[in-house]
Amino acid sequence: MPPADRKPLVLIVEDEAPIADVLRLYLERAGYVVAVESDGVRGLIAVRDQHPDAIILDVGLPGMDGTEICRRMRAGGDWTPVLFCTARDDEVDRVLGLEMGGDDYITKPFSPREVVARVKVALRHAQSTEVTGEVVTMGRVTLDRGARRVLVEGDEIALTATEFDLLAYLMQHPGRVITRDHLLEEVWGYASAVGTRTVDVHVAQVRSKLGDASPIRTVRGVGYSAESS
Ligand code: CA
Repeated sequence: MPPADRKPLVLIVEDEAPIADVLRLYLERAGYVVAVESDGVRGLIAVRDQHPDAIILDVGLPGMDGTEICRRMRAGGDWTPVLFCTARDDEVDRVLGLEMGGDDYITKPFSPREVVARVKVALRHAQSTEVTGEVVTMGRVTLDRGARRVLVEGDEIALTATEFDLLAYLMQHPGRVITRDHLLEEVWGYASAVGTRTVDVHVAQVRSKLGDASPIRTVRGVGYSAESS
């Protein structure tokens, strides 16, 4: 998260120069500092060296695929918001898939205004959540992954191990819509068509324990996300 006196840095990794140029223009006009890389390997180096606040990532890139860049970031614990640009609809499942961890996607051809709007949303989600080492704070809820404790305005809330893992997973992916199947796989360790009701039951338990401080939002027909209210 950038300090208040610094403009957010958006990294664009895109090998089509006309697209990168128009995105840079619109993002700079919207008040962002913009860096551009046209090659996947250099893109990953820029992620690590420049610590951007958000990344616009083309899927098809020379050097290294955009999905591979994102996979490596997530594997290394880097949860900087990633907006994927895909050339084909059939790439969407892949970029939002379990191991990739993309936050959002937009299909080419896109309107640069729409991209700027999505970047703003991604940054707002990232900024409303503070992840300091093991501690995630969202609104009135503080979750300490190391100590496995959850506090609401300083008062400890007793959660079961599964409830804790469920809340922790959602809070570590602020604003991201997580499907029930994805939660089953991440929290329970299996993917299954049967049993998604289990997720609903546990979400209901977490909500009843956290009361109106609960950051969990239901996304009808899809799953859940955690957001600061
Ligand atoms: Ca490309």
